Amino acid sequence: MVAVIKQGTTEKQLGELVAWLEDMGLTAHICKGQQQTIVGLIGDTSRVDAELLESLSIVDSVKRISEKFKSANRKFHPDDTVVRVGSVAIGGGNFAVIAGPCSVESPEQISGIAEAVKAAGATLLRGGAFKPRTSPYDFQGLRAQGIELLLHAKEKTGMPIVTEIMDASHLPLFENVDVIQVGARNMQNFELLKELGMIRKPILLKRGLANTLSELLMSAEYIMAGGNEQVILCERGIRTFETYTRNTLDISAVPMLKELSHLPVVVDPSHATGMSRLVRPMALAAAAAGADGLMIEVHNNPQQALCDGAQSLTPAEFADVMKSVTKVREAIRS
Ligand code: PEP
Ligand code: MN
Repeated sequence: MVAVIKQGTTEKQLGELVAWLEDMGLTAHICKGQQQTIVGLIGDTSRVDAELLESLSIVDSVKRISEKFKSANRKFHPDDTVVRVGSVAIGGGNFAVIAGPCSVESPEQISGIAEAVKAAGATLLRGGAFKPRTSPYDFQGLRAQGIELLLHAKEKTGMPIVTEIMDASHLPLFENVDVIQVGARNMQNFELLKELGMIRKPILLKRGLANTLSELLMSAEYIMAGGNEQVILCERGIRTFETYTRNTLDISAVPMLKELSHLPVVVDPSHATGMSRLVRPMALAAAAAGADGLMIEVHNNPQQALCDGAQSLTPAEFADVMKSVTKVREAIRS
């Protein structure tokens, strides 16, 4: 971290600043130029409040040189993290496809979709049991029963399951869930993230509706700081001024996140667009951009879906997308 000091600052003021910084365990190197004095800070600057430093009357500006996220940072962990879920691997060249309905609705629905997406090549089954709906009058999910039905589908198909948690008090219900999803709306639920840092289970962390990549990585850091290093990042579109699509898929987030972090990055083209016909091109774009996987909503009867029918693919459409995704992956490999 570097602080540029304002002209006219006295030696006494500079000395006080250095003493304050050294009290935080940092080493301050003062560099005096003809016009400007700068203070270079060495040590663990992750605890320094850059805004507070910049607000001081003698400080002109502050620039952070190293990012605040450490565990998630590729600089300290150059190799890709490979998250393993049973026999499925995500990251480090391993591509995983998570597919299933937005919400678990019935035993027949989830088991039927599970069989279909497995046959098409999906490696993990998704399905919401606890649903974060904007309206309290909309279907809220089957909750504990939804998880039971997912576990039953897992038993029948052998597919590991991914489902969303909304409150840490529900954790006991997730004991046999393979991957716990933190939805966009909870990306900055820091108490929940801390609890998930205490367990040893992969966490699929979705980017918040209006969050930066740095904020997403800081949320991953919350989980990793607790010792749970199995975090999968998920780009699912962000809110912009565009209204034709449900969200705007930030494809550049894929290579950017992979440059900044060693964690696997998957893309959810379903929530990103809100329209089933846009899922295919966006899934292909994500694969071409180097994503480590996809999360796609699939429903046996989208018109009757209790949630997100408009963005759900039928099993046949999903199978078709899978074939094209495989071709794109082969093309970028060669
Ligand atoms: C979901 O995956 O079902 C979901 C609610 O997604 P998001 O949190 O990205 O909106
Ligand atoms: Mn959904």
